[in-house]
Amino acid sequence: MAKRDYYEVLGVSKSVNEADLKKAYRRLAMKHHPDRNPDDAEAESRFKEVKEAYAILSDAEKRAAYDQFGHAAFEGGMGGGAGGGFGGAGAGGFGDIFGDMFGDIFGGGGGRQRQRRGADLRYNLELSLEDAVRGTEVNITVPRMSNCKTCSGSGAKPGSSPKQCGTCHGQGQVRIQQGFFSVQQACPQCQGKGTVVSDPCVDCHGQGRVKENKKLSVKIPAGVDEGDQIRLSGEGESAGSGGVNGDLYVSVSLKKHEIFTREGVDLHCTVPISYATLALGGELEVPTLEGRAKLKVPAGTQSGKLFRLRGKGVKNVRNAGFVGDLYCEVVVETPVNLTKRQKELLQEFEETIHAGGSKHSPKENSWADKIKSFFDDLVT
Ligand SMILES: [Zn+2]
Ligand SMILES: [Zn+2]
Repeated sequence: MAKRDYYEVLGVSKSVNEADLKKAYRRLAMKHHPDRNPDDAEAESRFKEVKEAYAILSDAEKRAAYDQFGHAAFEGGMGGGAGGGFGGAGAGGFGDIFGDMFGDIFGGGGGRQRQRRGADLRYNLELSLEDAVRGTEVNITVPRMSNCKTCSGSGAKPGSSPKQCGTCHGQGQVRIQQGFFSVQQACPQCQGKGTVVSDPCVDCHGQGRVKENKKLSVKIPAGVDEGDQIRLSGEGESAGSGGVNGDLYVSVSLKKHEIFTREGVDLHCTVPISYATLALGGELEVPTLEGRAKLKVPAGTQSGKLFRLRGKGVKNVRNAGFVGDLYCEVVVETPVNLTKRQKELLQEFEETIHAGGSKHSPKENSWADKIKSFFDDLVT
């Protein structure tokens, strides 16, 4: 599904300033907020879209990247298959934005959504480059609050059941007047559940939730990169009886690799090479993630030259048919600890090179000319 343009989503022009952007965002986020549109999937997806667009455009750096590259600018950083609605923001449900954006208007009391949905959790997973490139399966242990098994999350002692809350008459919400606004707030008596427990379950002390260390096996798709998030739906915290679990976001970071650095789907490495090989040409053995590969270095290659090995990079996690490249930079290694004989040979060699002038070292000679005319200009 093609993503809509962020500016279009917020109904603003590309030149919109910060204040107007915020205004447009507030208006739309309020309009589509799930608390105002209960059980409306359309509004929920519009809300997510608006939230994502604002998250990018309100950040000067991200906005610049978006202006230049469009949605492609963030494809590397968004959660694998999760749609990326929360990309980079860490574990955040609807409740978060409600708190930080609308707290001043709504009094920060939280909405029904906050009570009905358990918190999202974030698990930081560090992978080796090899595992990230090939994909793997990892076992993780996540400490979280789960539904109490004794009372099935109701909080009431088995055999008894929770009773309707007298304060909100089972609605879970109360209306309070705050300035010009009449605000719907979670009922303080029952914390929005609509029920109260008079005979609490002994295992969870009436909370309906208990701590557990949940063991999970997580499939890591080949090609994941730093900052990618894998969403495990419903593996976050329990919201107690009648609520839905939050989600678990497994956030990927990569260990530093001895040889390769990674840039998206491309790999980079630096290969030290002798001066003679650069000058005379030769064949090098270079590492790839699948083993060794041969690299032909033509005679007269300069230090710093990049060689591209097509298809030896990383598979794109969102497009398995697309594989990046491996870039090898050859860098001359100046010989050290020379013997007397070696020094003599080099000196002799240098004299012949010098005698040849620009024939053997065109750059050095044109550089010398530039310096000379620079000083000549200074004098006159
Ligand atoms: Zn219990
Ligand atoms: Zn109540």
